[in-house]
Amino acid sequence: MEIDGKVAVVTGGGSGIGRATVLELARRGARVIVADIDEAGARETADLAAKAGGMAIARRCDVTLTEDLAGAMACAYEHWGALDIVFNNAGIAGEDLFADDPGPWQRIIEINLIAVIDGTRIAVREMRRSGRGGVIINTASMGGLLPMPDSPVYAASKAGVVNFTRSLAYLAEQDRIRVNAICPTFTDTPLVRRAGDARVEEVAKLVGGILQPEDVAAGVIELIEDDSRAGAIMRVTVRGGRDYAREVRP
Ligand code: NAD
Repeated sequence: MEIDGKVAVVTGGGSGIGRATVLELARRGARVIVADIDEAGARETADLAAKAGGMAIARRCDVTLTEDLAGAMACAYEHWGALDIVFNNAGIAGEDLFADDPGPWQRIIEINLIAVIDGTRIAVREMRRSGRGGVIINTASMGGLLPMPDSPVYAASKAGVVNFTRSLAYLAEQDRIRVNAICPTFTDTPLVRRAGDARVEEVAKLVGGILQPEDVAAGVIELIEDDSRAGAIMRVTVRGGRDYAREVRP
């Protein structure tokens, strides 16, 4: 897919991987709705895109609310009359599974998995209606392919995203809608910095380094552009760069 002139919605676009991806999409001539629950973050991203000569609109969106997700996609049609690319990327981490309050771990499933399913569902319906096809990229994680003893619910949410995405590979042939997932390893964003700089350095040492958000954005761009990869799950690693996990083809 040629990115120039396309219309995209990026959830979690107000920070980290989402922001880096918005900026790269805008730099390549896409028009982008920056959807984030953090409206100030979304606005900052849109301003950065504008300063770089790109076109982006900030929109407050809580991905756990179907009406917010649908609203962000409707906004793409209102402003630019199309929806070609949806990056379901908003996510959170940080859990204590055995604490009394189940709220925090349930919120991880709601944002990281249920909202990705909902975002994909709404995007497919819109793209089917338009008949133009499209690309949907879901953010999973290396933690969706490997066990994470300190974050089992996060790992479960991301494994869910991986297999959900693989299961929709058939849409490429049926509707010209490609659904892919990206599995970054440890990436230097506010999400991991919240655990503290010492912890970040410790984990980076364990996994052999830390990615920059731009490394992940480059993987997303490659997935969008690569028309041949239906249902593909891309891994982004520090040493090995980018490759694909085993695919389940329709
Ligand atoms: P980040 O905290 O920098 O960005 C996440 C963004 O999602 C924030 O702007 C936040 O406001 C937004 N968000 C959170 N809840 C939301 C909601 N309910 N509705 C809408 N937006 C919401 O983190 P990041 O590292 O850039 O994370 C992006 C994605 O990458 C996540 O899905 C995360 O799980 C995944 N990921 C991160 C790493 C890593 O090491 N940083 C590794 C693999 C995967």
